[in-house]
Amino acid sequence: MVERGRAELPVVVIGAGPVGLAAAAHLLERGLEPLVLEAGSQPGAAVASWGHVRLFSPWRYDVDAAAARLLEPTGWSHPDPDVLPTGAELIAQYLAPLAQTEAIASRLLTGTRVLAVARDGADKTRSLGRARQGYRVRTMDANGAVGDVLARAVIDASGTYGSSNPLGISGLPAAGEERAQRFITGPLPDVLGADRARFAGRHTLVVGMGHSAANTLLSLVELARDEPTTTITWAIRGGSTRRLFGGGSDDELPARGLLGTRLKEAVEAGQVRLLTRVSIEKLLPSEESVQILGTNREGGLDLTVHAIVNATGFRPDLDMLREVRLDLDPVVEAPTALAPLIDPNQHSCGTVPAHGERVLAHPDDGFYLAGMKSYGRAPTFLLATGYEQVRSIAAALAGDRASADAVELDLPETGVCSTDLGGDGDEVSAEGSCCGSTPAEPQLVTLGAGPGLGFATGVVHGRSGDDVGN
Ligand SMILES: Cc1cc2nc3c(=O)[nH]c(=O)nc-3n(C[C@H](O)[C@H](O)[C@H](O)COP(=O)(O)OP(=O)(O)OC[C@H]3O[C@@H](n4cnc5c(N)ncnc54)[C@H](O)[C@@H]3O)c2cc1C
Repeated sequence: MVERGRAELPVVVIGAGPVGLAAAAHLLERGLEPLVLEAGSQPGAAVASWGHVRLFSPWRYDVDAAAARLLEPTGWSHPDPDVLPTGAELIAQYLAPLAQTEAIASRLLTGTRVLAVARDGADKTRSLGRARQGYRVRTMDANGAVGDVLARAVIDASGTYGSSNPLGISGLPAAGEERAQRFITGPLPDVLGADRARFAGRHTLVVGMGHSAANTLLSLVELARDEPTTTITWAIRGGSTRRLFGGGSDDELPARGLLGTRLKEAVEAGQVRLLTRVSIEKLLPSEESVQILGTNREGGLDLTVHAIVNATGFRPDLDMLREVRLDLDPVVEAPTALAPLIDPNQHSCGTVPAHGERVLAHPDDGFYLAGMKSYGRAPTFLLATGYEQVRSIAAALAGDRASADAVELDLPETGVCSTDLGGDGDEVSAEGSCCGSTPAEPQLVTLGAGPGLGFATGVVHGRSGDDVGN
């Protein structure tokens, strides 16, 4: 009986980030068997790569309710709800203890990368009997051994942090970009900490126009105070920095105003050289540096730097889902029904309405994108929203339709979101948004009312960031 066989299989959760682990907790509460597959060597592997960055959401919005219920009997106590953790603290005080609970530890495989998901026994074109089939999840362990796991359902919570947009302007890598990889970092290198040596006294090009770019630029400016030979160039695709610089003290978001004002001052003081209308066409790596060729407002671009910070945002890895029948929006690559709710042209992170399983469903039943990946290229994702997604998905998989359809997300009246920064100023893009901050003077941030969600305020430290597009 194929049907019964499918029901006995585990629900595979891809990724042990905050949302994947929360999914496991909700599935367990529903009496379903999760199996969490994590590519990294530790839970929260993506968060670890921005561990030095402070979240803008205080602890009260960072902990999933089912996860807390699993943790409490172990003697764990909820961190101070009003404190903003760093990524490293999120792991140490929440994700790691959660992954170590007996219930999850025995159902979590780290060092296990999912290569592909397919309907077991039915390629994408086969419809006959498709709905009865479970899923075949192809994996590769840390030693390169490939294997298959069968699943009744799959929740892909693998995030987007592993797939940055390329530097090339058309969404394709610039010529030589792959060969130049050793000179290119992610959007939030630890400039003042672990990665200092890479930038101190060197020339860095920061590409992008969101908060990650701003964060990194300001950290580089700080580094240059101690290491005066540090040189900073900033490249943006558009012609104006207006949206990132914001309205200064008149800005409706004080933190945005502060961030923008500081960056504006740094540009005006010549600490940061700004290049606009940049198109990177070719990268020529050599031993110590990389030459960048292309165009900018002034004509040809020919720049040689020691490091490039790619802060152009992220995109979901859809290659591994090639055999799954997905229903995705052609623009943001989020589930079609979700796309209008998260459109970065209309929503900041605080104004996305809560949504559940129905909005996240695809033509292949039992397959879901959840967490950051469910937002595709939109940068407006919040943990609290992801926790509600997986609560609803677990309820649906358990057959509790009423609970799956009920919206239980109590989106905060205070303190979730630092910014709704948009694109290049003279064009609308999915850039800017919901990211963390590096410690500085705390600022009280007030966000305007958004559709359906009222008012949000929050404490944000001096700098914050993340972006999509450049
Ligand atoms: C700098 C920064 C600050 C942020 N600050 C906030 C904040 O203050 N508040 C807020 O609500 N949100 C914030 N966010 C947004 C969002 O909540 C986080 O990105 C969060 O980590 C998303 O959780 P996730 O579980 O969906 O994905 P991730 O945390 O990205 O986890 C995905 C996991 O999947 C694993 N993985 C990836 N590919 C595979 C594969 N093929 N097979 C197996 N495993 C795989 C990864 O290793 C990773 O562990 C921030 C984001 C960033 C980047």
